Amino acid sequence: GMNKDTDIAALAQGVRAGQRRALARAITLVESARSDHRAQALDLLAQLGTDRQALRIGLSGTPGVGKSTFIESFGLMLTGQGLRVAVLAVDPSSARSGGSILGDKTRMDFLARDPNAFIRPSPSQTQLGGVARRTREAVALCEAAGFDIVLIETVGVGQSETVVAQMSDLFLLLLAPAGGDELQGVKRGIMEMADIILVNKADGDLKPQATRTCADYAGALRLLRKRPQDPEGFPKALTVSALETIGLETAWQEMQTLLDWRRGNGIWDQTRQDQASHWFTEDVRQGLLQILIDDPATKAQMQRAQNDVRTGQVTPTIAAEAVIGRFRALMTRQ
Ligand code: GDP
Repeated sequence: GMNKDTDIAALAQGVRAGQRRALARAITLVESARSDHRAQALDLLAQLGTDRQALRIGLSGTPGVGKSTFIESFGLMLTGQGLRVAVLAVDPSSARSGGSILGDKTRMDFLARDPNAFIRPSPSQTQLGGVARRTREAVALCEAAGFDIVLIETVGVGQSETVVAQMSDLFLLLLAPAGGDELQGVKRGIMEMADIILVNKADGDLKPQATRTCADYAGALRLLRKRPQDPEGFPKALTVSALETIGLETAWQEMQTLLDWRRGNGIWDQTRQDQASHWFTEDVRQGLLQILIDDPATKAQMQRAQNDVRTGQVTPTIAAEAVIGRFRALMTRQ
């Protein structure tokens, strides 16, 4: 009913004031695929600016490892220290499984009721590219709303760990105590992304196993080449119990040690600059691809070429070159 410009200005004001309802509405707006909503979302993001920044923590782990239990315990510890904590989820599989990872069961009950916390389920969308952009925008909104810490959770389906790591200042990998002496089939690439590995469930009967698993991972991490973004002793493996809130203070101290070192060495700024640059390139790439896909003639040509490639009538390289050549011709005509 109201003037749209006023609406967006009021929404921006609500977000800046840290109102959770305004923040929720703002995230809904950036998640919308409608083109009029898109224009409003961009207007909102521009009005909010980038002067406020949170600590962005990525968290990955397979289902059942204890992510929601950890986020609840860790989040409550942080809000207990007077920090404001936002939780976002990246789950490219949510559309397939029919519900978002945060939405399908009641999770993080206590944290959800904490006035200093904000929890947002993953948007249901299959495309990782779309989820990545919307999550980055949601992070920006949480920062504008004055949150100190933004936790970005992922179940680690496909490339989602990489996506989350590329929008985080710190990347945590949550693991369960292993049965045997194998390293749970954790991919080397994921280990290399982790700043701190947390072996969860280090309590009760599982404690000895957790300690052993932690030592195994500590050993595996030492075999990785020392990374320029790390001080001595990092990346590191620690045991925690999310359920019994053991080791969380220590884990938080380790995170701060690492982050202080990175801030002092200019690595924090460098990483943020690299990430911004990466996402700019990625957005341009995605946007251009979308223009191609949205053009009916190009779409038809691509479908024909797709078929020719499948049936082996033409090689992928030659077919792709034909589509790109058409686009190049369109560009130079203008
Ligand atoms: P998610 O799927 O990764 O979010 O895992 P959940 O947080 O839902 O936890 C899966 C199961 O592991 C639940 O039954 C939890 O109670 C249990 N769990 C989580 N953290 C711990 C822990 O620190 N110790 C023990 N013993 N169980 C835990």
